[in-house]
Amino acid sequence: MDKKIIFLGPPGAGKGTQAKQLAESLEIPHISTGDMLRSAITQKTPLGQKAQQYVDAGELVPDELLVDLMQERLSQPDAQKGWILDGFPRTVQQGSFLDDLLQEMNQTPDSILNLEVPDEELIERLLGRGRKDDTQDTIRRRLEVYREQTQPLLDYYRDRERFHSVNGDLPPEEVTQNLQKIVQSSAG
Ligand code: ADP
Repeated sequence: MDKKIIFLGPPGAGKGTQAKQLAESLEIPHISTGDMLRSAITQKTPLGQKAQQYVDAGELVPDELLVDLMQERLSQPDAQKGWILDGFPRTVQQGSFLDDLLQEMNQTPDSILNLEVPDEELIERLLGRGRKDDTQDTIRRRLEVYREQTQPLLDYYRDRERFHSVNGDLPPEEVTQNLQKIVQSSAG
């Protein structure tokens, strides 16, 4: 199905897992800025070299790097029919850039999904995940950065008709089912 979905939520909320599932069942690309940046870092591309210090410290990579990356990714042929954005936007400025870009491309998101999970659960999940940027200090910093820079995005989107908050503190299959229901009832 041709769907355009924006996924929001704190680190550890399960965005990646859920976005991957949904993308597979809807047969649309899963666009994860975290995955793209980690791959750029491993391959030591110019983007990766610029991004590494921020990712390792749990800080956000500067908006202009993300904006170029997304502009390029969303203009690829496979992204013309639909996509799931996971990890972008992460600041109000990125959100407003995305609105402009989509308008230029004559596209509108069908659903804006926010996964909600309590902090204690997030920390437990992130510590259990053991990714290279999942040390105790970076996890603490990523949650702070989320509160300071990403949470304001919720106010930016909250009043839109297509915004839905979903409980992410349930077994993954239940979360998937709840998300599927919302996406299927959305326009597009
Ligand atoms: P998590 O699942 O823990 O939220 P991600 O895989 O989405 O982590 O992102 C990992 C790191 O990549 C972030 O901590 C940040 O440094 C960088 N990053 C990803 N997306 C963005 C973005 N939209 N803006 C700035 N930095 C980003």
